[in-house]
Amino acid sequence: MSKKVKIFINGNFLVSKSHQYLPVENPATGEVLAEVPLTQGSEIDAAVEAAKTAFRAWKEVAVPERARLFLTYQHLLKEYQKELAEILSQENGKTFADAMGDVWRGIEVVEHACNIPSLMMGETVENVARAVDTYSYIQPLGVCAGITPFNFPAMIPLWMFPIAVACGNTFILKPSEQTPMTAMKLAELFNEAGFPKGLLNIVHGSKDQVNHILNHPDIKAISFVGSVPVAEHVYRTGTANLKRVQAFGGAKNHMVIMPDANKQQVINHLVGASCGAAGQRCMAISVAVLVGEAHRWIEDIKTALSGIKPGVWNDDAAAYGPLINKTAKDKVLRLINTAYQQGAEVLLDGSDCHVEGCENGYFVGPTLFSNVSTDMDIYKEEIFGPALLLLKADTLEEAIKIINENPYGNGTSIFTNSGAAARKFQHEVEVGQIGVNLPIPVPLPFFSFTGWRKSFFGDLHSYGKQGVRFYTETKTITARWFEEDIPLSQPINMTINLK
Ligand code: NAD
Repeated sequence: MSKKVKIFINGNFLVSKSHQYLPVENPATGEVLAEVPLTQGSEIDAAVEAAKTAFRAWKEVAVPERARLFLTYQHLLKEYQKELAEILSQENGKTFADAMGDVWRGIEVVEHACNIPSLMMGETVENVARAVDTYSYIQPLGVCAGITPFNFPAMIPLWMFPIAVACGNTFILKPSEQTPMTAMKLAELFNEAGFPKGLLNIVHGSKDQVNHILNHPDIKAISFVGSVPVAEHVYRTGTANLKRVQAFGGAKNHMVIMPDANKQQVINHLVGASCGAAGQRCMAISVAVLVGEAHRWIEDIKTALSGIKPGVWNDDAAAYGPLINKTAKDKVLRLINTAYQQGAEVLLDGSDCHVEGCENGYFVGPTLFSNVSTDMDIYKEEIFGPALLLLKADTLEEAIKIINENPYGNGTSIFTNSGAAARKFQHEVEVGQIGVNLPIPVPLPFFSFTGWRKSFFGDLHSYGKQGVRFYTETKTITARWFEEDIPLSQPINMTINLK
């Protein structure tokens, strides 16, 4: 019998009482690694109750003490980075190097949470009226919840709970049912760091469990990362229940290649940015817009992409791993078929991909299309696979227009040697995160992760200063103190003429 993934409530790892479990597969082999429960509603309620009780004491803990616990947590995450990456690689399929990066980008958010005393600073103005001062504090909200996707099992939960908890909140995490084990290791280390019980709680499941969270009256704020339809549902339901919601959705990221760019650098970056992690990154480049003479580089791009191959996580020669499951692979194969039917030129077709010893794995080889137009399904839908579309544009203006007409706005990049072209691009493009000669511009945690348009529903983004604002409420105090020795009636020699 396979291992049962536990739930984590009030500092205890418990076997769920649910009778419904889903398999957690190794996507490279199809082997069942564990079973994850569809947590019962009463268990979610117990997690919220534990978080509510813990909040009363935790919000009173001195801010530097909270920061100190996160310093210990950061130390433990670094110590166990390899172990976390191995768990992550096995349940997600990404290569070990990629998994180490996934954990590392999460550790950086914990480092940001260690700065919480400075991040919690409010604002002050002295003398808003004579002898009257106004100052504001930010205070935690209470119980917050996070719902996360399969593709960054360490980094995305760590975008959320460290910032929320450092602000003085308590947290319920519902990780992806496809990659729940990395989150459990994060919780184990959280316990080991010495955090009080009930600050972080983990429940598992899918649609019903998410809806239970969205409708729970005691949860004040929801952070979500996943696909657009679910992001929209979470945003609409959460806000209809008067909760604060930030919901990150899917993407279609374009890289604009100007003819004056360094060809070799462009091609090196394009290979990793499109097919790395099997294209299962929300910031993956799935469209390259070749401007002017850059049209001539298509053969070189094809040669570079055909030189990489997928494999299992601990194969050093593998450039990337499998797709997460059969549904994901079927979707990619379906879109490749539509590309043939709708007149794209298929330069590389990775549909028929075999990895030795992994006959049941969900592998797709590098796939490349040219002659793509913006009305094709392969352009309109998020592929989330190792596939790159090539579009042509005569001018930078045309490339910017293509990007701005696409409904998504997560990330984009330009490769050029012209400062003027780069500036025009960064100024005019309606996308949240822009790379200049960098393919995947994910901001470090002292900035915020800022998707736009269909890639994000809400206003305050993740981590950075915005993350702290999202998990706090502002309290503004206006105060006057009477001093007997300095009567307020004392005349002050200043005349102000208001016009
Ligand atoms: P998903 O939307 O299928 O699942 C995300 C979470 O929502 C999971 O925890 C899942 O259990 C839950 N869920 C699934 N269906 C639900 C439903 N009908 N009702 C309520 N909850 C539901 O996404 P995924 O496949 O795990 O992740 C891939 C997607 O996430 C891609 O679209 C990718 O672009 C996106 N993503 C976006 C970002 C970003 O920052 N914008 C980052 C990573 C991933």
